[in-house]
Amino acid sequence: MKIIMLGAPGAGKGTQAKRIAEKYGIPHISTGDIFRANIKGGTELGMKAKAFMDQGQLVPDEITIGMLLDRIHEADCVNGYVLDGFPRTIPQAESLTKALAEMGEAIDYAINVDVPDSAIVSRMGGRRACVNCGATYHVEFNAPKQEGVCDVCGEKLILREDDKPETVQNRLTVYHEQTQPLIDYYQKAGVLAEVDGTQDMDQVFTDIVSVLGA
Ligand code: ADP
Ligand code: ADP
Ligand code: ZN
Repeated sequence: MKIIMLGAPGAGKGTQAKRIAEKYGIPHISTGDIFRANIKGGTELGMKAKAFMDQGQLVPDEITIGMLLDRIHEADCVNGYVLDGFPRTIPQAESLTKALAEMGEAIDYAINVDVPDSAIVSRMGGRRACVNCGATYHVEFNAPKQEGVCDVCGEKLILREDDKPETVQNRLTVYHEQTQPLIDYYQKAGVLAEVDGTQDMDQVFTDIVSVLGA
């Protein structure tokens, strides 16, 4: 099963993608996580990406598309995957469609997690992230067992630089201009499913499972 998560930054794509990956036994591929791992590791790719990410801008397609296509050709992707944060532009979506078509494949579902901008800023301000293992928490809606510490790996949690309110506004603008058109793109492809992302996390997941099938 090949799944794409669509939605504004902070809509809950990552939270749901992790649950989908676990239930269906497919890898969760987050381009944001891959960039952050590269930044942490001090790679050239990481250095290039960081400048864009800190401003709330997208990393250029020339960097992002090749990186993602390499990833989905790895061995663990044979039975599918859930993409979180890719595609984010029409050229990214077109490149993915083309690369899959060359293998006789296609995306099965594009799930749009719908949350209005008004709810996004508080979600992002409360998000706490583990840069070590990629786990995400929320100070109010999904608190870790011990404040500031990752339940999974014990690492210290951070407030991402790009989750500060000034940058969140930029990211929302970028989302509406460059990423929202993908909803139409996948509707036309006949694979779009909409879920109401303002519900609690368990209910959102229940709705997703009813789309994907148990
Ligand atoms: P969120 O989960 O809050 O939407 P991500 O972790 O997906 O954030 O992305 C963080 C940042 O990484 C983005 O603001 C952008 O700078 C960069 N990024 C992630 N995925 C892509 C992509 N597909 N294309 C371009 N930039 C990306
Ligand atoms: P995205 O990957 O779309 O940027 P995340 O999954 O990281 O979004 O979620 C953003 C923040 O909102 C996190 O702190 C997360 O714990 C919280 N969150 C996710 N889904 C919900 C929900 N349904 N209700 C309340 N908070 C949520
Ligand atoms: Zn962790």
